[in-house]
Amino acid sequence: MNAVHCPSCERVLYNRRASQCGYCGAHIPEELRFTADEEAELDRQLAELKALRDKREAECDQRIEEQRETNVTFFDLLN
Ligand SMILES: [Zn+2]
Repeated sequence: MNAVHCPSCERVLYNRRASQCGYCGAHIPEELRFTADEEAELDRQLAELKALRDKREAECDQRIEEQRETNVTFFDLLN
């Protein structure tokens, strides 16, 4: 994705949804902002990323849980 710059202060616009520049407050023309479609696509991608991250965290938790069980078994064998 190409960076979009404020037409007034030339700084990179990080918030493509805002109608005003976060630095100088200049009005951001609609063509520089996300369209409703692009916004929906962005939301979808973010949701996907979040789902992926949640899944990874769940798997990580599971692995720790399994490891713990293995340790307990090993510990039990020693006794
Ligand atoms: Zn600006």
